[in-house]
Amino acid sequence: MAERSAPAKLLLKRGKDGRVRAGHPWIYRGEVAEVVGGWKAGEAVSVLDSQRRFLGRGFYNPRPSLVCRLLTRRDEPVDGAFFRGRVEAALALRREAGLVSDAFRVVWSEADGLPGLVVDRYAAVAVIRCLTLGMTACRPLVVEALSSLEGVAHYYGHDEEVAGRLEGFEPLQGWIGDAGPAEVEIREGPCRFLVAIEGGQKTGFYLDQRENRALVAGLARGRRLLDVFGYTAAFACQGLVAGATRAVVIESSPEALALARRNLALNSVADRAELREGNAFDLLRAMERGGDRFDLIVLDPPPFTRTKTALEAAARGYKEINLRALRLLSAGGILATFSCSHHVSPADFEEIVRAAAADAGVTVRVRAALTQSRDHPVLLTVPETRYLKGLLLEVV
Ligand code: SAH
Repeated sequence: MAERSAPAKLLLKRGKDGRVRAGHPWIYRGEVAEVVGGWKAGEAVSVLDSQRRFLGRGFYNPRPSLVCRLLTRRDEPVDGAFFRGRVEAALALRREAGLVSDAFRVVWSEADGLPGLVVDRYAAVAVIRCLTLGMTACRPLVVEALSSLEGVAHYYGHDEEVAGRLEGFEPLQGWIGDAGPAEVEIREGPCRFLVAIEGGQKTGFYLDQRENRALVAGLARGRRLLDVFGYTAAFACQGLVAGATRAVVIESSPEALALARRNLALNSVADRAELREGNAFDLLRAMERGGDRFDLIVLDPPPFTRTKTALEAAARGYKEINLRALRLLSAGGILATFSCSHHVSPADFEEIVRAAAADAGVTVRVRAALTQSRDHPVLLTVPETRYLKGLLLEVV
């Protein structure tokens, strides 16, 4: 966090500055010639090309293969003022877009010039996720910068185990300062949702699907809805409130389903909903055999792969659930299908779903190509910032 007056210098090998100059902030170990000056893992270093020209500054950590992500391209200290400026800019972007509400993503890592940091706001709680060792040391500065966020009184650290192992830090899962509520209520359009701050998935709620839930709700009236990988039934609640005749939610986590049940009641739609706990692959197959049919299906699976090597297995998984869903659709039915795997490109995803449609023997029309909500902005030069892709399909 606290930077020395003369930060250490990370020198890139010759010819390894291309990606950085093209607007991408990542530096891999193999691209580093040497790090000179006293450095400590997690502290900021200046990044220079092989001609010693300044490229920017970021936290250096020799442990993961991704050793540095540039936080700034200016010769400036990474201090409290830096974090305040970045958070202010992130808020200004969202204010201008009308995205400031009691539940939104405040900071989205690289896309907000803060690689390794995610902040989500849920009512009076800001959930802070640090993904790098350097960022964990800056958590107090992040909390201070967030003080401009009106209505937020509590801060909860919710780091990922995976990032902790990769970067070599003890993931924080707990309150920073005074403890806040274990659960809060947020609004999303016409619905209200309970969000588990302590022990929830991700940072508590899938804010990235907000706009897609609204889209699905717009199509739900008079339709039978199947919400696969439903988590706390957010799609189902939105669909039912918008007039779906019935909704079935499939979800493997009993904790998520317990909250789903309460969310359905909170929105007065529990009488039209049915929760099925289990593995979606098995349940979809059983439903197909049992002759269940739906007019609107949402497939929102977890990332089936976090690595490039497991891509083929992931593709098989995506294809199977899409095939099953297409078979469960009535004539004229609609499928909203998603992938949040970083390693599956929009083109890969389209190809997988195309193959599923071919196997199902149906013609599908693309009503819309979908992506993450706008409070998860995308940098064109950093494709990794766009991770959620989806297709809204109609069986014709
Ligand atoms: N649609 C949800 C978010 C879904 S996240 C929303 O809008 O809030 C993916 C969900 O799939 C998680 O809740 C996870 O517990 C669940 N899940 C993971 N693997 C599963 C499986 N094999 N079968 C059923 N659910 C699964």
